[in-house]
This record gives sequence, C-alpha cells and structure tokens, in this order.
Amino acid sequence: MKRLEELEGTQWWPRGKILALQDERLRKLTRYAYDNVPYYRKVFEQCSLKPEDIVTSKDLVKLPILTRQLVRSNFSDLVARGFPRKELMPCLTGGSTGQPLRFYKTRDDYHGWDAAVGLRAHKWAGYEVGEKLALFWGRHPRLSLADSIARTTKHFVQRIELFDALKMSEKMMPRFAKRLEGFDGGFIKGYPSAVYLMARYIEREGKRAIRPRAIIITGEELYDFQRELFSKVFGCETYSYYSTNETDAVASECPEHSGYHISAENVIVEIVDDADKPVPVGGEGRIIVTSLHNYGMPFIRYEIGDIGMSSDKACRCGRGLPLLAAINGRISDFIYTRKGDCIAGIALNRSFLAGLGVEQFQIVQESYERVVIKLVFGREYKRDHVNEAVKKIERHFKSELGGEIDVVIELVDQIVPTRIGKRRMFISNVTRVLP
Ligand SMILES: [Zn+2]
Repeated sequence: MKRLEELEGTQWWPRGKILALQDERLRKLTRYAYDNVPYYRKVFEQCSLKPEDIVTSKDLVKLPILTRQLVRSNFSDLVARGFPRKELMPCLTGGSTGQPLRFYKTRDDYHGWDAAVGLRAHKWAGYEVGEKLALFWGRHPRLSLADSIARTTKHFVQRIELFDALKMSEKMMPRFAKRLEGFDGGFIKGYPSAVYLMARYIEREGKRAIRPRAIIITGEELYDFQRELFSKVFGCETYSYYSTNETDAVASECPEHSGYHISAENVIVEIVDDADKPVPVGGEGRIIVTSLHNYGMPFIRYEIGDIGMSSDKACRCGRGLPLLAAINGRISDFIYTRKGDCIAGIALNRSFLAGLGVEQFQIVQESYERVVIKLVFGREYKRDHVNEAVKKIERHFKSELGGEIDVVIELVDQIVPTRIGKRRMFISNVTRVLP
C-alpha cells in the first residue's frame, strides 16, 4: 500500500520528471548488476562498457538483448551474488508459447512493486480492493498445496470468485452463467478468450446479462471484435492490462483508452527492430523490457516475445506516464514464408469468419508449407451451411496466403486451452527467417 500511494503520486508527474526517476533507477540497477551479477559483469566486459556508460534508457541499446534461451543457459550466473536466499521467490512462466521458463523474483518486487503497479492499473478501471470480481482464469498446474491455499484465501478475502477457464464446456456454461448473476455492479477479469466464450453464450442463449462496472482483460491480446461483444453484452467498458510473468504489469489502459500507459517507475519498455535498434516513433517492433526492481535476478533488456507500437503522445487523462500505441500480439502470431515474408493481420478476417457462423478459430502454422485452420461453428448451423462456409473460408485464406502455403481446414468441437487455460488464436511452429 505504501508503494501504491507513491505510484498514485508519480503517475501525475510531468513526463520528463518520470523519465528522470526511471533513469536514476536504471543507473542504480546497472551498477548493482555489474558489481554483483556474474552474467552482466561478463556482458559489460565483452562490450567494453563500464556502468557509467549507462546514463539514460537511451544507452540501453549498448547492451545485448536477454533472450529466454540466454536466461536458461546462464541461470545461476544471472542470480545476484550475496542476495539473501530467503528473499528470492522461484517463478515460472505459463509456457503458453513453448517451454516454461524458470526464474527468480524478489519478495519486495513481487509483493511490493508488482502488486502496487497492478493495483494502480485496476484502479484506472474503477476497481478497489475488496470489490466483487469474477475471475476467468486457469489454474496454475505447478502450484504447490501451500500456494494453492494461499491463493484461495486471498481470493476469499478479496471477494474474487474463480471461473475456471479450462472448464468452459457447453455443459458447464449454464452453471457459469448462473454464478455470474451475482456480479452486477462488480467486475469481470480474465483472459479475453474465456470472457468471450461467456459473453457469446449469454448472447446466443438470450440469458440476462449482468451489468458489471468494467471488464479487465489480461494474459492475451485483446481484439476489437472481443471488446465490441463485451460492450454489447455487458454494457460497460473494457480495460486491457498488459502483464507478463517475468515483469508483471508492463502497461495498461486508462479511461481514455488512447494506448497503454507504461508503468515507467517499475519498467523500461523499448520497441526494437530486427537489428535490435529502437524503431522510430509510431513504428512497430519487438517489445524489450527492463525490470527496475528485481535485484535478485536482474532482467535488463529482456525479450518478452510480443510485438508493440511506440508512441510519444501525451494522454488526455493528464498522466505523465509514457504510452505504447498498441500491443499487437506475440511474435508467433504471424504467418511466415520461407522467404522471410511476414503475413500479419489474419485476425482482421475475424469479421469475415464470424459472418459465416464461426464462433472460435485457431490458426496453426505447422511448417512453411502448411497452415491448419481449426474452426468451431455455432451450434445453430446445419451441415449444408457449414460445408458451403468451409469452401469460402478455404478459398479466402488460399488467396490471402498467396498460394505458397497449403491451407487445411479442420472442423473441431472446441479449441483446446493451454495448460493454464488460454485459448490461442495463432500458433506458429516455424521461426522467422530474417531477409
Ligand atoms: Zn491516460
């Protein structure tokens, strides 16, 4: 709560003052990493750098990017020497893309900064601790019994009720809809794919929709078609909240919805191109995050695996926190050709698919030559309609993908969620070949 109080003040500072605070924290962190973290000592030496060469966030480009692979292969060298063991918290990424990653956070970072930054973002949506909240979320498969009890207790105290995103079958939906009735005037939070399934069910079955105060979305990219449906079914605004396991609350929407305010007191966000250099303002690139308060296992210039768009605009809300114009999905959310071309914007075809009665879909790029499109049609559609629609969809994607890639359509009963309950619309098993 002390951190939150501080953050509620700094968010209104002029941007220059916030960035100066950020730079001061960066200098402290890089000096510490050089002195105490063997991996960074080695990196500084290889780049012929001294800590005093990193003065502002603009100097970060002098340092190499930290990939998941590098974290894995340098795990023990990334842990700060002499950092109290009991202050380190073992963490794990959800692994919705590939193998989960093991890393440490510190208690101060996790329970202090991350929690406070997250709470501040929730307050932008009007939420205060203790208000009723329906959480559409997966279970963490590796949660120990103690952690599981702690989570249940925390949820009880905070009036959070869990709707298991792994169990959203047709059989369970009537029960979910019934339980949700108690959340008038409260909040809905969760993965957009899970909340979407709920909203579609309510719409399709003509159930009485509750009137929450806001929908808070995190864990996956939020698409416009989802936001539109939430507004139609629940009659409130949706706030997208961009957080990752490794660095937690990175950026969030304020009531103006004019982009994502970066939690600049806690993280530095860079948007870089294929040569790891910052993209011009308004450009799209890979999101690189430096976490300013993890002194146990510092992540400096960490590659999250998401794509974002930079911005230098000021927000009408008056907060000085810098903005990200957009967060455009994961790097694996694009279809790549062998020549290095990148075909984006497949999601835009969602309205085309919805018009034909597709309720859910998943696009899987299995190889450079083959893309499988899994489709779930609404239950009200008859076989003749489905057959006709499949032909149209096949033709559409073949022309979209330029005839170079085989398109295979599969009709399925459901899109199978990942271990933690996310339903991914894109899965790519190929890596991009840089031209
Ligand atoms: Zn704002």
